[in-house]
Amino acid sequence: MATGAAAAVDVANGVCQSYLNNKPVRETRELVAELCRHFYTQGWVSGTGGSITIKVHDESIPKSQQLIVMSPSGVQKERMSPEDMYVLSSAGSIISAPSPNPYPHKPPKCTDCASLFMKAYEMRNAGAVIHSHGMESCLVTMIQPFSKEFRITHMEMIKGIDGHGYYDELVVPIIENTAHEGELTESLSEAIQAYPKTTAVLVRNHGIYVWGDSWIRAKTQAECYHYLFDAAIKLYQLGLDWSTPSHGPIQRVFGGQRNVNAGVLNFNNALELSRVEEDLHQGVAGAVPIPTNDTGKDEVITSLVANVEAMIKADRKITCLKQLQGHIWRTGFQNNELKGVVFEDVSDALQKWHAMGIKVYIYSSGSREAQRLLFGNSNYGDLRKFLCGFFDTTVGNKKETRSYFEISQSLGVDEPSDILFVTDVFQEAVAAKGAGLEVIISVRPGNGPLPENHGFQTVQSFVEI
Ligand SMILES: [Zn+2]
Repeated sequence: MATGAAAAVDVANGVCQSYLNNKPVRETRELVAELCRHFYTQGWVSGTGGSITIKVHDESIPKSQQLIVMSPSGVQKERMSPEDMYVLSSAGSIISAPSPNPYPHKPPKCTDCASLFMKAYEMRNAGAVIHSHGMESCLVTMIQPFSKEFRITHMEMIKGIDGHGYYDELVVPIIENTAHEGELTESLSEAIQAYPKTTAVLVRNHGIYVWGDSWIRAKTQAECYHYLFDAAIKLYQLGLDWSTPSHGPIQRVFGGQRNVNAGVLNFNNALELSRVEEDLHQGVAGAVPIPTNDTGKDEVITSLVANVEAMIKADRKITCLKQLQGHIWRTGFQNNELKGVVFEDVSDALQKWHAMGIKVYIYSSGSREAQRLLFGNSNYGDLRKFLCGFFDTTVGNKKETRSYFEISQSLGVDEPSDILFVTDVFQEAVAAKGAGLEVIISVRPGNGPLPENHGFQTVQSFVEI
């Protein structure tokens, strides 16, 4: 064993304190303080957040036995001096702590990231680890809130990441944040294990851990990662997809691109999947996880049916669900298994208004296709000849005033008050009135009670209009 190695082992045992005063340890302390000041200007360690650790490089000692310098926790990172640092043994035990500073400084405490830093040292034989709270590393985990990975390709700066070229896809695992930094240790080590090629782990709504063989590699990569996250956020704002080679317009996809082809239902899958993930996240009753791509067709169908039923039960007013209902209805109407049932006064009223030259449009949370099928195949025959057009939630939610502005724009009336909106839902009446439309509430059997003094005219039948 080399003399230096023997000295380091002795230091770990608390015997040879003189080694701590040697040049390599001193210089590493200075380097950590200097880098913290620099990273502060980058916004990576502001508000006392973030942290850095560097191994004391000493040629005479194997890397696995080199001492470790770590910045303290909860201090102004840009105002640290070399004496403020902790020195740890290669196994992670503290062998030198800084002296306390007077009030208002807090008593010294080693970084909360210590156990996480140790994982990068142990599992990847790192030479340095940087923990950044840089805003871009935080935001990039939010633009895909259900994704467990950040992916990007065809960006020059990918070449700055170890083992990656321009054409490669860079994949960074994302772990979920916890209340206390130390609680991340297990999921961080799982991510390091699951992604053998990665040199970084993102923590959602929090920041990133980046390591490298040396402090130079850790710093260079940290800069490239932050650059790539910033690029992804900007491409996202431009509506462009950072994860594909062409960086073309973003498809309606978040939560990763996966294809479920159940053979029966194959439409807007990506959106459907993201909705399911959202439902699972919110604990919607009946929602089940989506099988992976290699799962058999039957299991995919079972899971899809369970999720669609859960969405219907939760009465999710979402466009993709309405489209699915449209598909089901079309088949039913085509096979004469379904009839659109309208109240008995509706047909006569539509006919009368049509004869008077009044244009009638439908605005429903059912898709336009579903509306066309319902009114085209009603229990009073094809009523579409009395209608001028159909609106659905693609113009907006029925309880939002903006939707009614949209519709009045589309209809090209002089004033929104030229439009009479008839509804049986109080919130829709309020939204339409907000856009300046005339409103009547139609009271039908089975409707929810109206608030007292709601102020709207009501009718029991369209005959009264
Ligand atoms: Zn942190």
